Amino acid sequence: MPLIPKAVDATPQGHADAVAWQKEMQEAFRNLGALLRYLDLDPALAPEGILPDPAFPLLTPKSFASRMAKGDWRDPLLLQILPLARENAAASGFRDDAVGDLASQIVPGLLHKYASRALLMVSHQCAVHCRYCFRREFPYGDLPRGQAGWDQAWSYLETAEGLDEIVLSGGDPLFLDNRRLERILEKAASLPHIHTIRFHTRLPIVLPSRIEPGLLSLLRKTADRKTLVVVVHANHGAEIGPECAQALKDLREAGALLLNQAVLLAGINDDADVLADLSRTLVRCGVIPYYLHQLDRVTGTAHFEVDEARGRGLIEALRGKLPGYAIPRYVRETAGEAYKTPLSA
Ligand SMILES: *Cc1c(COP(=O)(O)O)cnc(C)c1O
Ligand code: SF4
Repeated sequence: MPLIPKAVDATPQGHADAVAWQKEMQEAFRNLGALLRYLDLDPALAPEGILPDPAFPLLTPKSFASRMAKGDWRDPLLLQILPLARENAAASGFRDDAVGDLASQIVPGLLHKYASRALLMVSHQCAVHCRYCFRREFPYGDLPRGQAGWDQAWSYLETAEGLDEIVLSGGDPLFLDNRRLERILEKAASLPHIHTIRFHTRLPIVLPSRIEPGLLSLLRKTADRKTLVVVVHANHGAEIGPECAQALKDLREAGALLLNQAVLLAGINDDADVLADLSRTLVRCGVIPYYLHQLDRVTGTAHFEVDEARGRGLIEALRGKLPGYAIPRYVRETAGEAYKTPLSA
C-alpha cells in the first residue's frame, strides 16, 4: 500500500511571499466531483470507469487544472491525473518497485545508483499526483524525519568516492519551504567535491507561483557557488502556460541550466506532432529536452505503456522535424544498470 499522505500538510511558514503557493496548494483539487464540475464534465458520461477514492489520491493544483480544456475527457493534462478503474487491472510484469530504488537506497532517503551522482529524496510530497508516477508505490513513510534523520545521508555524501553531483528529488524538492531548502542548499554547496546541484521538480510546470522571489534568491546564491541544474517535467506542450514560461525565465535568470524530462504516455504524447510541439515550446522557454522516458513498469500504470518500437519510431520522426538539440534522449531505466539505457541511437 502506498504511504503517500492523503493530504498535503502545507503549513504556511516563513516569509509572506512564500505563502501564496502554499495557499494555492491548500485549495488544490483533491476531490473528483469538484474537479469534474470545474471542467464541465458529467461523471455519468465518463467514457470509462473512474476510481472515486484511490489509495494514491487525486491531487492537482488549480493552476494545472486551468490549462485543461473544458468538457474534454481526453484532455492530455487531465489524463495524467485522473484515477481510472483500469489502474486496478492486473498486469503481468508491473511491480511496486520496478526500478530497484529500494535496493539502491544506501541510507534512508539517499539513492546512489550512478557513479558520479547521488539522489536525495528530500520531500515526500508533490503538488500533483501523476497516475503514471514511478514512485507512486514508494514507501515514503520510511524517509528520515528532521535534521538529525538526515545526518547519515550527509555523512555518506561527504565521503563517497567519485561523487560530484547531488540530485535533489522526492517527491518534489521545491515542495519544501524556503527555510528547509536553504539548509539543504547550504549543506550541499559547502561540500568541496560537489560541483553540481540538480533539482528534479515538476513545480515550475504545475505550480509556477512556487518560483517566487525568496526561492529565486536562494537559487541565485547557490548558482554563484556551484553549477545549478533544474530538470523540470512536462509531457505535453499544453502544460506550459504563460505563467510557466515566466517561471522558467526567472529560473534561467537566477543562473540555472534548464532541462526537461518527459515520460512517453499512451493517449497523451505518443504522437510525433505532440512531441515536436512539446520540444519547440520548451526550447522557446530556454529549456533543452533531456530525456523521454520509457514508462517504468510500476503497479497501476500499465494502461500508459507505449511499445518501445513505437517509441523509437517517434524519435525517428522527430529527427525530420527538429534541430538535434531539441530531440530528447529516449531512455529506459533498468534495475541494476550503471546508467539509463538508451533506446534509440
Ligand atoms: C535518473 C537518476 C539519476 C540521474 O540520472 P542522469 O542520467 O544523470 O540524469 C540519478 N540517480 C537516480 C537514482 C536516478 O534514478
Ligand atoms: S511530480 Fe514526479 S514524483 Fe510527483 S507524482 Fe508526478 S511523476 Fe511522481
